[in-house]
Amino acid sequence: MTVATTCPYCGVGCGVLARANADGSVHVEGDTQHAANHGRLCVKGSALGETMDLRGRLLHPMLRAPDGTLQRASWDDALDRVAAGFRRVIDEHGPDAVAFYVSGQLLTEDYYVVNKLAKGYIGTANIDTNSRLCMSSAVAGHKRAFGEDVVPGCYEDLEQAELIVLVGSNTAWCHPIVYQRIAKAKESANPPRMVVIDPRHTATCESADLHLPVKPGTDVWLFNGLLAFLFQHGAMDARFVEAHTEGFAQTLAAAQKDAGDPAEVARICGVQLADLLNFYRWFARCKRTVTLFSQGVNQSSSGTDKVNSIINCHLLTGRIGKPGMGPFSLTGQPNAMGGREVGGLANMLAAHMELENPVHRQVVQSFWQSPRIAERPGLKAVDLFEAIGEGKVKALWIMATNPAVSLPDADRVKQALARCEWVVSSDIVAQTDTNAYAHALLPALGWGEKDGTVTNSERRISRQRAFLPAPENARADWRIVCEVARRMGFAEGFEFDDVHAVFAEHARLTAYRNHEARAGDAPAAHRLLNLEGLANLGRHAYDTLQPVQWPVAASGEGEARLFAYGGFSHPGGRARFIATPARMPRHATDREYPLVLNTGRVRDQWHTMTRTGKAPRLTGHIPEPFVDMHPHDALRCGVREGELARVQSRWGAMVARVKHSGGILAGNVFVPIHWNDQFASDARVGGVVNPVVDPISGEPEFKHTPVSVEPFPVRWYGFALSRELLMPQGLSYWTSIQGDRFRRYEIAHRERPSECSAWARAWLGVTDPDADWLEYEDRSTGIYRAAHVIDDRIESCVFLSSRPDLPARHWLASLFVQERLEDDDRMALLLGESSGPAASAGPTVCSCFGVGRDTICEAIRTHGLETPAQITSRLRAGGNCGSCVPELRQLIAEVRAEVNA
Ligand code: SF4
Repeated sequence: MTVATTCPYCGVGCGVLARANADGSVHVEGDTQHAANHGRLCVKGSALGETMDLRGRLLHPMLRAPDGTLQRASWDDALDRVAAGFRRVIDEHGPDAVAFYVSGQLLTEDYYVVNKLAKGYIGTANIDTNSRLCMSSAVAGHKRAFGEDVVPGCYEDLEQAELIVLVGSNTAWCHPIVYQRIAKAKESANPPRMVVIDPRHTATCESADLHLPVKPGTDVWLFNGLLAFLFQHGAMDARFVEAHTEGFAQTLAAAQKDAGDPAEVARICGVQLADLLNFYRWFARCKRTVTLFSQGVNQSSSGTDKVNSIINCHLLTGRIGKPGMGPFSLTGQPNAMGGREVGGLANMLAAHMELENPVHRQVVQSFWQSPRIAERPGLKAVDLFEAIGEGKVKALWIMATNPAVSLPDADRVKQALARCEWVVSSDIVAQTDTNAYAHALLPALGWGEKDGTVTNSERRISRQRAFLPAPENARADWRIVCEVARRMGFAEGFEFDDVHAVFAEHARLTAYRNHEARAGDAPAAHRLLNLEGLANLGRHAYDTLQPVQWPVAASGEGEARLFAYGGFSHPGGRARFIATPARMPRHATDREYPLVLNTGRVRDQWHTMTRTGKAPRLTGHIPEPFVDMHPHDALRCGVREGELARVQSRWGAMVARVKHSGGILAGNVFVPIHWNDQFASDARVGGVVNPVVDPISGEPEFKHTPVSVEPFPVRWYGFALSRELLMPQGLSYWTSIQGDRFRRYEIAHRERPSECSAWARAWLGVTDPDADWLEYEDRSTGIYRAAHVIDDRIESCVFLSSRPDLPARHWLASLFVQERLEDDDRMALLLGESSGPAASAGPTVCSCFGVGRDTICEAIRTHGLETPAQITSRLRAGGNCGSCVPELRQLIAEVRAEVNA
C-alpha cells in the first residue's frame, strides 16, 4: 500500500509517497499533491528507499554492565533503570540536575511529551534541542520583531517575487527543492532577480544575477546600510511603519551611524561598491521581495542581530505577509519548527508561550494540571554541556541526536559525557560517537516506522506516516517517554492511548485561553500559533490529515501569510524595529590562526551520516571529508590539493583532504559537518569549532573560528575496496565509504609497510597461500596493487602509492557488480587503469544516474552542449531530482572558458 508521508531530512518538508514492496525494498516518489514540492524530491529524498535496511540499527534496549560492556535488556528493566536513574538524581540534587537534549528529527508528538515531562512534571527547563545549533537566532529575531516565532510567508511567494535575496544559504544543496522552485521561476516569462549574499561562491550562485561575497560576519553592516539607503531613497512605506510598527527612529539612527555610507559598507563587507549599490537599488525598486536566510545568518555570535537587520528592511518597506514578499527563515531540520511549537527550547514553554511570563506559566500549568511548572529558563545547548562537564547536571537523556559530533568544542562534549553519572540515549542507530558514552540505549522507531506530525519552514503541518512495522523491539519516542514518566510517578499526565491523543492535546493547548486573552487584552497570552481547527480531530481525521499551515481556524482552514495588515503578537499588536549595532565575530584571526573556518553541509549527506552514509548513490558525490581552501592559502600553508592537511584551532584539530573548489575567498576555509568517528579517523569538525554563542539566542558561531592549516605528513596513500568490512583503525588516516556491494577505504599512514604483500594479505584477511591473488609491485616508485579473487569474482583489492594520485576508483567499483572477472579486468587491475567505459567517468556529479564529471565535460566539449537540458537529453544527468543542475551549469561554464582560452 502506498502511504503519503513527509521526507525526514531538511526543513523544506517535501511530501513523499512510500511503499514497502514484498521483496523488502522500499519505493519512494514525490507526492504531487503536497504543496511544498509538487511531486519533486532532491537526491537525498529520492534515495530514501536505499537507506531503510536494518544494518547498524539499535533494535533492543541495552544497559551498560559494571564491566563497561553494553548488555541486552528487557524493556521493563531498561525503563525501570532509566526512571530510577533520573529519580535518584532529582531526589539527591534537585530537578535542575537532570536534563534532556532532543532533536529536530523528533516528531511534534515526541517533542510534546518530553517537554511536558521536563517542564510540567520534573519541574526543570533543562530541555534543549539540536535546533539550538541551526535555528535559534531566527527564533529570537522573530520574537524580538514580531512578538512570536512566526515565519510570515510561504513557498508560493518565491514564484511571485520580483527579487529573491538569499543570505547565508547554499539553498541549491541544503534546501534543494526550494532552490528548484526558484530556478523554475527564473525560467518563467517574468523571472525574478536573484541575489546571493555569501562569502563562498556556492552552487546556488550559478543561477544568481548577483553574488555578493561578503567577508564573514559583516552581514549586519550590509543590511543596516540597506535600511539607511531605503530610507534615503524614498522606499519607506510610511503608512505601514506608522500604523503597525514601533522603534523605527532609533533603529534608523543606529543604522545610519554604522552604515550610512555605502562606500564604507562596501569596504567593510569586502564587496565592490557598484555591486552593493546594484543590490540596494534592486531592493528599493522591487516591491515583491523575499529575503531567504539560513545558517549563514543564524550561526553567528551576532546571529539574532543579523536576523533583525534583515527583518528591519522588510518592516520599513511594509514588505511582509503579502504575495511575493517577506523575510523567510529556511529551517534546517524536518521538524525544527514543530519542536519550537511545543516549546522544545530551554527558554520556551509550550504552544509559543514564554517561561518568564507568569500568565503563560499559569495557562500551561492549569491546562496540564501538572504538579509544578519550570519557573526559569533552562540551560541552552552549549551551556548545558558545560554544566554537565562541571558536574552540575548529572543525568542526561539524549534523543535522536549526536552531540559528540555536532556541538562546537566537541572534544569537551565527549569529556562532559564521560563525566556524566547517567546518560540515556534514544536512537535508531547502535554505534555513534555519542552512544559510546551512554549507560542506557533505547531503540527508537525510524522514518517509515513512526507516526506523527512535522512542521516545515512555511508553517505547514504534515503527517509522517508509518508504512513499515516496528523492527524487533524498537518503540516510538513518545511512548518511551510516557513509560518512563509513569515509572517516575507521573502517570496522570501521560495516559495517552496513541499518537493521535498526544497531537490532540497539543492542538488543544495552542487554543487554550487564546481567544480569551485576545479579546480581553489580557497580559499577552494571545499567540498566533493556534490549532483550534485541529483540536477536536478524531482518529480518522488525524490519520487522513492533509498538510495545513498554521494558524488553523475553527473551520480547519490554514493561513498562507501573516502580518500583511499588522496583527503582530507583541502587546498592542505592533512589530518592533530592533536597532542592530554591527560587531565583528567574537574571535579574530591572528598570526597563529590566520584563517577563518566556515562549516556547513554538502549536497548528498545529512547530519552525521547515520542514514545517508548507507546509500551508495549518496556517497559517490563527495566521498571524503575535505578542507576547501584558496590556492594561495594552500601555498602559504605548505599543503597541496589531494594531500592531507590538519586543521587546527585553539579548541581542537581534525584531518581532511585539501580541495580547491574555486569558491573560497582567500583567508577562509570550509569543512563539511558530516564526518565523524564512525566514518573517518579524525574528521569531526565540531572538535575544531569555537564554543562562542550569540548572547540572545545561544546559537554557536559555527561560521567563524580562527584556524591554521598544516600538512598532515604521511609516507604513503592508498585505498581498498572490499566486500567484507575491514578494520582501518591503527592507520594514520582512513575514511570508510559505502559502495554498491563493497565498502571503500581511503587510507594513508606514516610508516610504509616493510612487506606490502604480507601487509595487504593480512589486512584483507587473505590467509590461504593458494588464494587467487593478483599482485604488482614497483619498489622504485612505491606502487603496490593487489586483488583477491574468489570463484572468478573480485572479493577485494588494495592500491598503495607514495603519492596521492592513485588510480580512479569508479571503474574498480564497476568490477564489484560483475559476476566474473574477464582476463582484461585482471590485466587492468595489475596495470591500475582500464580502457572500459567506466574508466573515465570521473567523480560522480549526477547521483541519480551515476554520471561522472569527466563524462559530462566530454559531452559538453564534443557536442557543444550549452544548457543543462541538453546534457540531460544526452546523458540523463540532471533529469531526475535536479539536485546536480547547478553543477551542470558550472561545468558548462568551465568547459566554455577552457575552449575559449
Ligand atoms: S528538499 Fe530534499 S531533503 Fe529537503 S525535504 Fe525535500 S526531498 Fe527531503
